[in-house]
Amino acid sequence: MRVGEILNKVFLIEIFKGLALTLRMLFSKTVTIQYPSQRRKVHEGFRGRHALVRDPFSGNDKCIGCMRCTTVCPSKCIHIKREKTENKMVVIDYIIDASRCIYCAYCVEACPVCALVLTEDYEYSSYRREGLVFNKEKLLKNWDDFAKRWHKDFYFNKFWQPPGIDPSRWPKTKREQAPIPLKRVVEIKREVNDESDGS
Ligand code: SF4
Ligand code: SF4
Repeated sequence: MRVGEILNKVFLIEIFKGLALTLRMLFSKTVTIQYPSQRRKVHEGFRGRHALVRDPFSGNDKCIGCMRCTTVCPSKCIHIKREKTENKMVVIDYIIDASRCIYCAYCVEACPVCALVLTEDYEYSSYRREGLVFNKEKLLKNWDDFAKRWHKDFYFNKFWQPPGIDPSRWPKTKREQAPIPLKRVVEIKREVNDESDGS
């Protein structure tokens, strides 16, 4: 055994080094927070729970059933049931299996009418697999819940603008997408609720 190793053993140098480190950390700035009573501010553009954007004027979703999102999705976790009427495509149901999603936001980028978003909501775990399968009704509710908590009056998702593609090549609906007035969304929700209560 070398002299250094003997001194180490006799004077417990490594233990004292460890205690010194603990003492130093005791007085340094904490990096953890007391979740869930404390929450970190989510960065804008965070890709969380999926939602179908509620049109602030019609109150419905904006999906036109073009199937671009299903085509581009690498996880194949979007399923759309649609029906062709005389002059337009009607989306009967829109299902996303969030347990398979990799949150790439390709679906959001590809959508020509900005009907889909990955909101900043991140607390939606479930004990059951079905709890992470969102249908159209649930996706619209996700949007309403998100809109209620959003801290600004308007909403605009930066992933609606696909990077690396000349904006002149985007569809007109995407190019001219205006921020969504969220107060109007809340009003519509109230009107829809009032109507269903009255009937
Ligand atoms: S974020 Fe990516 S993986 Fe998830 S649904 Fe959209 S395209 Fe599919
Ligand atoms: S890309 Fe947009 S409009 Fe087309 S089916 Fe998907 S959500 Fe609907």
